Amino acid sequence: MSSVALELSDVKKSYGQKAAINRLSFAVRPGECFGLLGPNGAGKSTIARMILGMVRPDAGKITVLGEPVPARARLARMRIGVVPQFDNLEPEFTVRENLLVFGRYFGMSERKIKAVAPELLDFARLEGKADARVRELSGGMKRRLTLARALINDPDLLVMDEPTTGLDPHARHLIWERLRVLLARGKTILLATHFMEEAERLCDRLCVLEYGRKIAEGEPHILIEREIGCDVVEIYGGDPQELCALIRPHARRVEISGETLFCYAPHPDQVSAKLHGRPGLRLLQRPPNLEDVFLRLTGREMEDA
Ligand code: ADP
Ligand code: MG
Repeated sequence: MSSVALELSDVKKSYGQKAAINRLSFAVRPGECFGLLGPNGAGKSTIARMILGMVRPDAGKITVLGEPVPARARLARMRIGVVPQFDNLEPEFTVRENLLVFGRYFGMSERKIKAVAPELLDFARLEGKADARVRELSGGMKRRLTLARALINDPDLLVMDEPTTGLDPHARHLIWERLRVLLARGKTILLATHFMEEAERLCDRLCVLEYGRKIAEGEPHILIEREIGCDVVEIYGGDPQELCALIRPHARRVEISGETLFCYAPHPDQVSAKLHGRPGLRLLQRPPNLEDVFLRLTGREMEDA
């Protein structure tokens, strides 16, 4: 197998005067989960659509599973499974009918689709739901049906655009667990998300995006170690400016975001000692994460960006 499953080099895409994707390059290896992490508007869906050949880049080169895209996107698409940002299931059709419609798109016979459907529904934890109408399913079930559908052609590459956005924590964990199983089976996953935790848990490597530009790339734990490298104390419930002055001597770096003070401290005990006895203050000490990396690189938080 080739050493690259998917590659973008120097890709640009503008809408009117506005650059949605700005000279972006990255390469995804076969079998890895590669994340596109960025807030709303960062360009994640545009990248996913370009990879699928649905949006044509203004400049640059895209290769997907050895095929140049968009020139041979139709060929590449036969080996890709897609979970779009917004579900496009047929609400009035049953679960089984949705798989049938989609399988035909790949030129599969009805017999073949019916043969693989039970296994796909088992995989998606939708056993017993084959005859349920899509509109009767919960959000998590719909998402898992979209995942089952994406697997109908036994794809090598899965392009997943915010697969757990809008789901409750339980439904989200179930999807994460299923994605892990797919990775263990050797699938390659491109995962677009604005959830730091999702990216941190699942991605072997990721690219952090802001306004269509890559601002960091690498393995999550290495990015976190390189950009932050010490524990974080989150402080709420006081005047951030005043507290900032107080703890600065004990911190490697201090950031204020909204009403929270983020204190990056090699010796967090010194910070808590300094603030000890102040009424109304709440301190939370925790290991650093990708949210801290984003805050450090952009000066803003991802969730409310
Ligand atoms: P994300 O998926 O990360 O939220 P998008 O790829 O949807 O980001 O959007 C990136 C930027 O491109 C945004 O500024 C968005 O408004 C713009 N954009 C995306 N699609 C279109 C379009 N069809 N027409 C005009 N602007 C668009
Ligand atoms: Mg999007």
